[in-house]
Amino acid sequence: MKKIIAVDGPAGAGKSTVSKICATKLGYTYIDTGAMYRAVGLKVLSSGKSVDEDLIIEMTRDIKIELDEAARVFLDGREVTKEIRTPEVSRAASDVAKVGFVRQKLTELQRQMAVRGSVIMDGRDIGTQVLPNADLKIFLTASVSERARRRFEELKQKGVAANLATIEKEITARDKQDSEREIAPLAQAEDAVLLDSTTMTIDEVVAEILRLAKD
Ligand code: C5P
Repeated sequence: MKKIIAVDGPAGAGKSTVSKICATKLGYTYIDTGAMYRAVGLKVLSSGKSVDEDLIIEMTRDIKIELDEAARVFLDGREVTKEIRTPEVSRAASDVAKVGFVRQKLTELQRQMAVRGSVIMDGRDIGTQVLPNADLKIFLTASVSERARRRFEELKQKGVAANLATIEKEITARDKQDSEREIAPLAQAEDAVLLDSTTMTIDEVVAEILRLAKD
């Protein structure tokens, strides 16, 4: 069985949904690295100060980010699980994720979390930078219209008003920024297995990852 599994891909591809299910089925720890960048983004936004690289670095220097077994997220000791899921925080996360100091700090934390045992970690640079020696690397994607549609349905179910075209625009902009940044851009590792989930169900994606994990 593959012990360290890296799942990368663009926004809304279903990485966290399938990674969480796979982790439960395998008895592995799930680590959501996007949540960590979101926590930094939220901290910077909440400061109310004008955002520049110096502020981002200052806010990250002594930051405390914890993820528990229930995938709850704690920022400096306070639970922020729901707060980090807004469109504003998505944008802020992508902005802070360009800063080398932030990436260094979070990469270090993520590597420490991965030595605890069997893990499935999702993000943008897990297979390329954080865990280049992962036993299994998945690059999970789907068409941008399908990813936007899924986000839209998710929000609708939560009773949150949303606009499909706006979501598609936001996802496209974030993917562009994440793929074009200088440090650790979103990219498929050479040895990653590409899974295009555009026409796949969640169960089918999970089954495929579990099959690959068994090899
Ligand atoms: O995965 P999620 O959408 O929650 O990630 C939020 C943002 O955090 C991404 O758009 C990306 O800019 C950043 N991120 C990153 N590297 C990771 C995980 C997330 O740069 N490993």
